[in-house]
Amino acid sequence: MIRIDKGEAPNVLLTQGVDAAKELCSVYDKDQAAYHNGTKRLTFNDGIYGHQSVRDALDRSHHGKCAFCEVHIPKPYALAHVEHWRPKGSVTQEKGIKASTPGYYWLAYCWDNLLLACHFCNSSNKGVQFPLADPTRRASNHHQLVAAEAPMLLNPDAEDPSEHIEFVEEIPRGISPRGIATIKALGLDRLEHTPRDALIAKLRSDHDFIARNNADPHPELISEVARRREFYGQAGDPASPFSAMAAAFIARNPLPDPVIFPVD
Ligand SMILES: [Zn+2]
Repeated sequence: MIRIDKGEAPNVLLTQGVDAAKELCSVYDKDQAAYHNGTKRLTFNDGIYGHQSVRDALDRSHHGKCAFCEVHIPKPYALAHVEHWRPKGSVTQEKGIKASTPGYYWLAYCWDNLLLACHFCNSSNKGVQFPLADPTRRASNHHQLVAAEAPMLLNPDAEDPSEHIEFVEEIPRGISPRGIATIKALGLDRLEHTPRDALIAKLRSDHDFIARNNADPHPELISEVARRREFYGQAGDPASPFSAMAAAFIARNPLPDPVIFPVD
């Protein structure tokens, strides 16, 4: 996970989104008890939070990657990939605890609450979890302030995740209570994250190859070392997949200086 900057809210959220949120608040106020006991459910317009302009803005600011695990998400993005940081329809403190309704419905179309997330992080792991340091302070409707909450889940659009999560090879490790809670909620330390594992294996292989062949004057090896050195040099860039993990690996495994071979 790396810091991202989403920039300005797409217009559709400031116009249709604001109107739709007001409507949800009005509907909720007419029968509050029913929305809390689950006999009625609020409905959401995915044509607003999943509008093409919203997805394009998320795509640009996220470099096409999941906000949480940094996997590259294949296009076109499904609606499921537009993630509500505070869940819109129901919420739970952690997996295994029954979710309560109606969730953070008033933030369904709020730009600050939207991220791009992969299926692994969003659907398979996070779901409707939104852990708080003190769940008794959870805002249960739009009349209460979310500012009173202390979220345990990191928001890469609002803070630098590197202050909370570090990497040991391909495994993220929490270095603060919020880092630990975020890894747990998203399942980021689960071992079956195949693309992430493949990248760390490639970096390890490239590093060893370059170290072994750096001084070999064979022309094919010179070009192969250069090719792998270029990949290695870019793997920690924000636009690259799993860049937080790659940058940590590269910092621990620097390359030898390039050897300049004399030209005949
Ligand atoms: Zn992900």
